[in-house]
Amino acid sequence: MSQEIPVDVLILGGGIQGVTLMRELMPEYSVVLVDDEFGDAESLHFHGYFSSGWNAANPLAAEIYRCAAQRWHKELATSGVNSRITDFHAALTPDFLSTVEDNWARAAIPFEEVELPEIFDPDNLPSNRRFRFPDDLIFDGAAAYRSVSEPLRKQIYRGRLASFQLGGAGIEQVTLDMDGRSCELKPELVISACGAGNAEVIRHLGVAEEQIQNAQLVRPLHMLLARGPNIPPVSALLIDLVVMYHPLEDGEGLWILTLNPEVPKFKAGVVDMCIPPEIENDLLCASFERLSSAMVAFEAWAQGCQWSVYAGWKTDAPGPDGDLLVGLDYPTPYQLDDYGVKNFLAVWPNHWGLAANVADDAGNWVRSKLKSRHPQPGADSGLSPGSGVGHPIENKWQSDKLNWLCWEDFARKVGYHH
Ligand SMILES: Cc1cc2nc3c(=O)[nH]c(=O)nc-3n(C[C@H](O)[C@H](O)[C@H](O)COP(=O)(O)OP(=O)(O)OC[C@H]3O[C@@H](n4cnc5c(N)ncnc54)[C@H](O)[C@@H]3O)c2cc1C
Repeated sequence: MSQEIPVDVLILGGGIQGVTLMRELMPEYSVVLVDDEFGDAESLHFHGYFSSGWNAANPLAAEIYRCAAQRWHKELATSGVNSRITDFHAALTPDFLSTVEDNWARAAIPFEEVELPEIFDPDNLPSNRRFRFPDDLIFDGAAAYRSVSEPLRKQIYRGRLASFQLGGAGIEQVTLDMDGRSCELKPELVISACGAGNAEVIRHLGVAEEQIQNAQLVRPLHMLLARGPNIPPVSALLIDLVVMYHPLEDGEGLWILTLNPEVPKFKAGVVDMCIPPEIENDLLCASFERLSSAMVAFEAWAQGCQWSVYAGWKTDAPGPDGDLLVGLDYPTPYQLDDYGVKNFLAVWPNHWGLAANVADDAGNWVRSKLKSRHPQPGADSGLSPGSGVGHPIENKWQSDKLNWLCWEDFARKVGYHH
């Protein structure tokens, strides 16, 4: 029979949330992190943007986003990851502004009213005022992930939760499937940071199916990509279209255009991240309409670019009353839930940048429950070697697997008539 490995904390899931939490807890506690398919993590879809400016839906959310942005500013400066690649401009409607403006002042979020950069035509956007948020962050998510996870790699293992053994104390033992090999762990506390996989993890706790369905919401998020030497180094929110600039090698630039459908198609419960959502051509065409009205000389510019697209799954924790957290009017834009199991916690950050705040809260939860009891499992524990999750860490939008097409071919492929 295989040996049971005692450890203070087992973290399931090695996206930005899992590794940020692991860093928060080590070396105060012994920690093992397992992740099954890091290559499909939502964290690699992240297009590198974090705003306290337009997430300030209520005073507490404004404060949370501002603190998170400050933490990442410091962190990126220390680690040398390139941040603030461009300023971020936003065209905001009067309604939106009436919600956020007071909260900027209360949370001391810096902003200034500006003109949009010349490539945009604000007259063709619905009634709007334009702002710049100097503290908003744009950075390379994969580089930031590497800088957090690299020092922890020896304690990150490739594996998947197979089952929990439950008893009076909550989770008494955990069986992991580690590349076909079964491994038994005896953790004092278990934290699930599995993103879209959290629903599957809580199913292993014997939680009622209805609760699993309500535990998280998942929706497709489309990323339209344009690259070439004539991409302006500008990032902006144009009412409902997010434009994000990243520099590429050889003097090229990349725009990531995140498309926000008017009615996002939410699914509840478990989703397989290995199967990407379908690409919706109607949404792409509607976004080209929007972009062509918002940009000066759109057609000529589009012809000078190479185009590509992909869609990823975006997880959203539901708010405390089961409604959409993405509505942004809940005080806390992330969620922690124990599902009635004493030594278990599931965590959901609604944004990449919020992983730092969630790690604070979850870290306090660990400290309130436990003084460290076990040493870090060593090379003879049966877990070794801890070689990290073994996948290359690259942003999905940098992948050389993407199919790039010239404007005419791309427009024809998605059915855009211009
Ligand atoms: C297209 C797109 C663009 C986005 N852009 C932004 C943005 O600009 N700004 C922003 O702040 N946020 C953005 N987000 C949201 C952000 O990416 C997520 O909030 C964040 O990455 C979630 O991190 P996570 O660690 O919780 O989950 P993940 O990164 O999904 O990590 C979960 C990990 O758990 C593992 N796992 C799953 N099940 C199991 C299991 N049973 N056992 C072991 N391991 C398991 C998975 O393999 C995965 O590696 C975007 C999301 C998408 C999809």
